[in-house]
Order: sequence, then structure tokens, then C-alpha cells
Amino acid sequence: MSNRPKLTPPPEFRRYAKRVRCTDCNSETGRPRRDEHGIWHVPLLHDPWCPVLNGQVSTLDIHTHALTRKETA
Ligand SMILES: [Zn+2]
Repeated sequence: MSNRPKLTPPPEFRRYAKRVRCTDCNSETGRPRRDEHGIWHVPLLHDPWCPVLNGQVSTLDIHTHALTRKETA
């Protein structure tokens, strides 16, 4: 798609991407990608029944959780 050289996400983003999990299902994360504005995104792959998918639950908790929870070894 893009002929831009592949870049590695910054450490803060990698830490976030490692921690981010849906609080309502057993989600997995996909491969991080950088958009045309230079912003990194990590896809969060929800289970098909997850209430987040149909908008019943806000995703805000997911991100807050990823940013604030303590490191687990
Ligand atoms: Zn989910």
C-alpha cells in the first residue's frame, strides 16, 4: 500500500499496545500500524459477542485500563 519505510512504534505505544485488552471479552490485539497522519493504531479484535461491538459499552474503559493498570510480570 505505502512505499514509506516501515517504522517501529515508539516505546510508549508498544507498552500501550501490549497492555490494551477489552474489559468485556477475551480480545486479542492485531498488528500495530501507522496511518497517513503518522498516528499509531493497534486493532483490538473483539469476540463476536462482545457488547463493545454493537456500541452497548464504551471503549473508553479499555484505553484507560491499558494506560493505568500496573505492569504484570
Ligand atoms: Zn470486546
